[in-house]
Amino acid sequence: MREKFSQDKLDRCISCGYCLPACPTYKLTGNEESSPRGRITLMRAVQNDKLPAIDLLSESSFCLGCRACEPVCPAGVEYGVLLEEMREITWQGKNRPLIVRGLFFIVDTKIGMWALGLFSPIARKRKAQNDLHLMYGCFERRLFPSVSRAVAKLAPEVSCSSDQGCCGALHAHNGELEKGKELARALGEKLPGTILTTAGGCAAHLSSVIGKDRVQEFSEWWVKREITLKPIIKKGKKIRVGLQDSCHLRNGMGVFAEPRTILKELGHYVEIPGAADCCGAAGSYALLQKKNSRKVVSQKIEEIKALELDYIATVNPGCTRQLVTELRRARVKTKVIHLAELVALSQEK
Ligand code: SF4
Ligand code: SF4
Repeated sequence: MREKFSQDKLDRCISCGYCLPACPTYKLTGNEESSPRGRITLMRAVQNDKLPAIDLLSESSFCLGCRACEPVCPAGVEYGVLLEEMREITWQGKNRPLIVRGLFFIVDTKIGMWALGLFSPIARKRKAQNDLHLMYGCFERRLFPSVSRAVAKLAPEVSCSSDQGCCGALHAHNGELEKGKELARALGEKLPGTILTTAGGCAAHLSSVIGKDRVQEFSEWWVKREITLKPIIKKGKKIRVGLQDSCHLRNGMGVFAEPRTILKELGHYVEIPGAADCCGAAGSYALLQKKNSRKVVSQKIEEIKALELDYIATVNPGCTRQLVTELRRARVKTKVIHLAELVALSQEK
């Protein structure tokens, strides 16, 4: 019988607790069970048949999946994989949230994907000479189509194909691990060569399945082009700009210096104290755990407000949506914009 969890990954944890201060749900509650170490203890109990799997349900839903526990772990525990396995066990049948079922329906069906692209002015289909393909993303194409247009404008060497499905990150993070891998492999076949993505979460999932050499996230790709950027001027001064890291890009792929390098050219870069901390979007979390999601983001909103930034740049659509919503609610005027759009703005005459 297949084990519920990868035993080698469970075995790595030495219960040192270094991950506790980095974990947003532990910081919110102070409960050991809501920490990475506590959740791993629960997983071990389930693996050894000392606890029924259903007892993991509440913690598998409360965990953001931000992977902030990974870079601080001295034993190299791949907590993100363990969480995916935990949700695969718990988010099944009637325990799968209705919203998740709805999201799967949209990206799993031709009609759903068609509807996402309907009246959404994404970058136009084109075939370039290079083997470099722009990935539109599922919800980014619907919510923020201007991001793909910005990349297409900046890079004529990028091919844009409308015939592309979901990368499977949504499935892998929401209880359908195998389907998530299957979709990533299918997208890898549809878009041969290098896949360029503007979504940190998609970049991390895709590269974990089809290989890092096949995937480039926008900021890591742009810095390699070594193009000098003009600063953006507003009211006679360089813009004040901050960054919201993408959790999976930073904690899963180690990409965080690249977007900062770009932003330092575009204006006066200000590091938000909690830039590396999760914004509470966390994939479907902002929809499923609204109250907790807002608790997680609240301090960040105060920090952004105090810094009086012109822009906050993002590298993942979920973060864009979360910050737009919460800054608007708090009546903060800082504009949220994807990094690619800000680069495109600097190129305008
Ligand atoms: S830091 Fe790593 S090894 Fe230590 S308790 Fe956390 S997950 Fe386990
Ligand atoms: S993924 Fe984030 S919320 Fe979940 S245990 Fe790790 S640090 Fe805590």
